[in-house]
Amino acid sequence: MKASLSLDLDNLWSYLKTHGDAGWEGYPSYLETVIPHILTITDSIQTAITVFIVGQDAAFEKNTELLAALAVAGHEIGNHSFRHEPWMNTYTPAEVADELKAAHEAISNSTGHEPIGFRGPGFSSSPSVLDTLAATGYTYDASTLPTWIGPLARRYYFRSTNLTPAEAGLRSSLFGSVRDGFLPNTPYEWELDDGDIAEIPVTTMPLARVPIHISYLLYLSGHSTALAEWYFRLALRACRVRGTGPSILIHPLDLLGGDEVDQLEFFPGMDMTGSVKRERTTRYLQLLTSRFDTGTMAEQLASLGTLKRRPTA
Ligand SMILES: [Zn+2]
Repeated sequence: MKASLSLDLDNLWSYLKTHGDAGWEGYPSYLETVIPHILTITDSIQTAITVFIVGQDAAFEKNTELLAALAVAGHEIGNHSFRHEPWMNTYTPAEVADELKAAHEAISNSTGHEPIGFRGPGFSSSPSVLDTLAATGYTYDASTLPTWIGPLARRYYFRSTNLTPAEAGLRSSLFGSVRDGFLPNTPYEWELDDGDIAEIPVTTMPLARVPIHISYLLYLSGHSTALAEWYFRLALRACRVRGTGPSILIHPLDLLGGDEVDQLEFFPGMDMTGSVKRERTTRYLQLLTSRFDTGTMAEQLASLGTLKRRPTA
């Protein structure tokens, strides 16, 4: 059974923007700090992963060398939108097409790699996103997190903001709804008018449908490291029993601590140092790679047979 690892290369500015904080317009960045950590950790577990890059970051010339290094190291490069707006699901079809095209061009220019996979910012997706992806030759979408705790995560994330009602409205679907707990936890194929596209969900705990991605494990480890490890072992065993090859998500803030990034105190786990986080993250990734043949999302998809089809409406 093949597993996959993906990393959403959210930058300091995209967190500030989503959170509704001032200062994001200057595009503050920590890519020069986090990309070397990504390369070191994936090298230590000897695994190629999928890195979803934000188009705006790829458009900055100062990032070209850093981002190209990810492709050179053998990682798959995916598209994580251009402007990283979790309200992308409210765009018109024309806005969706422009957004995806701009991101695709910037990302392929800087990395020399044409993305075939997409993950929506904040897991936002829509039928027009799926249609556009299929029409432009994308093989898969990876924008679902089948958990019921999205609204809780959203409330936690925005506990320290002063958003206007309009700003809050735009962010009202960030991290999804309770209904998402009923979405499939294994890959399937969206049935579209013009061709199909695969969906690879970010795996959650089978049956219980609570998150098992690295940020969540680190959050648990803040209470008890033994609990976090026990929980992840349990999740991986449950995936094996259910025949689910897990697709596990990493975020830059799983590799960066409060000693390396300020302004993001609202994010869970920022009271830990970067070195503690990297040590724990490496441990969780080793638990995964020792139990499953782990690689990129494209590799995982290629290893699966015919997928079950599902209508978008
Ligand atoms: Zn993101």
